[in-house]
Amino acid sequence: MSTEVNILTGVRPTGNLTIANYLGAVKPLLELQEKGEKPFLFVADLHAITDYEPHEVKKYIKELVADYLALGINPEKTTIYVQSAIKAEVMTLSIYLARLTTVAELLRVPTIKDKIKKGQKPESANALLFFYPVLMASDILIQKSKKIPVGEDQVAHLEVAKMLAERFNKKYGNFFTLPKVHQVKSLRILSLKGDSKMSKSLPEGAIFLTDTPAEAEKKLNKAQTAMDKQMTPSLESLVLIAKGLNSTEAEQKQIDEIIVQHKSGQQVMGQFKKLVIAIVKRFLQDFQAKRAEIVKNKKNIDSILENGAKVAIENARATLFEVEKHLYR
Ligand code: AMP
Repeated sequence: MSTEVNILTGVRPTGNLTIANYLGAVKPLLELQEKGEKPFLFVADLHAITDYEPHEVKKYIKELVADYLALGINPEKTTIYVQSAIKAEVMTLSIYLARLTTVAELLRVPTIKDKIKKGQKPESANALLFFYPVLMASDILIQKSKKIPVGEDQVAHLEVAKMLAERFNKKYGNFFTLPKVHQVKSLRILSLKGDSKMSKSLPEGAIFLTDTPAEAEKKLNKAQTAMDKQMTPSLESLVLIAKGLNSTEAEQKQIDEIIVQHKSGQQVMGQFKKLVIAIVKRFLQDFQAKRAEIVKNKKNIDSILENGAKVAIENARATLFEVEKHLYR
C-alpha cells in the first residue's frame, strides 16, 4: 500500500547556494523538520537537465546534499533522495498524467508563457521546458504528497498537479489526495547591489555559502543601505539577513535599536554594517566547518541517499501499482 507523504519539496542541483536560498528555502524546511512533519526532500536532477548538461548536474548532486546536511537537514527526520533514483516510476506516471492534459493547457501555464515572453522561443526551447509541469505533478503524486512548500513562482505548477489529480480521480476513481500549497512566509532577499532579487546569476550582489568570510565582508562593505531616516528595501533586506542567519537574541535586540536610531536621524549605518558583517561571517564559518566534516566521509552521503531512495522507491512503486490497477481495470 502506498502512503501519503505529508510534505514534499524538490531542489534543483544547479550550482552553489546563496544565503537567500538558505533563508527562503532551507530554513522553512528546517522548521517543518523540527515540527516533526517528516518531510521528503528530493534532489530534482531530472528537472535540472532542462537547462544544464546531465554530466554537470550529476556533479552537483552530492555537493547539494552536503550543503543541506551542513545547514541542518537531518536524514533521521527528513527523507532525502535523488529524483532519478525513482526515474522509472516517476517517468511512467508522468506519461499517464500527460494524457490527462492538453497541449493548449500546457502552453497556457504562466511560467512557460513567461519564459517564452522573456526570449525562449518555442523553436529553440527544448521540450522539457514544456513538460516541466507534468513532471512536477508526477514528482508530487508519485509520493501521494499532501502539502508542497512553494514560492509564488511555483503556484501555477502546483495548480497543474492538482488539476491532473482531480482529472485522474474523476475518470478512474478516487485515488489521489489533492496536493495543496503549503504557504511559506514569502521572503525576498535583495541583491546587495540594488533592487533585483539576490540570485546566483548576479554573483557580485550575492553571498554564496562558499564565499570566504573575507569575500563576504568585501561584498557587504559595498552593499547599499539607506540615507538617514529612510527605510529602503535594501536596508530591510540586510535586516532580514542579519536576523535570519542565526544571530543571538542580544544581536537581534541591537539590530532593532540601531534601526530605531537610524529612523530618528542618527548616523548608525556604519555600526549596523559592522554587526551584519560579524553575523554573516560567523554563519559562513560555522557552515563551512560543518560541511568540511560532512564531506570528509563521502560514504556517509552515499548511504543517506541509498536509505532515502529505498523509502522513496517503495512508496513510488506502490503508488504506480495502484495507479495502473485503476487504469487497466
Ligand atoms: P533558485 O536557486 O533561484 O532556483 O531558488 C531556489 C529557492 O530559493 C527559491 O524557490 C526560493 O525559495 C529561494 N530563494 C532564492 N532566491 C531568493 C531570494 N532572493 N529571496 C528569498 N528566497 C530566495
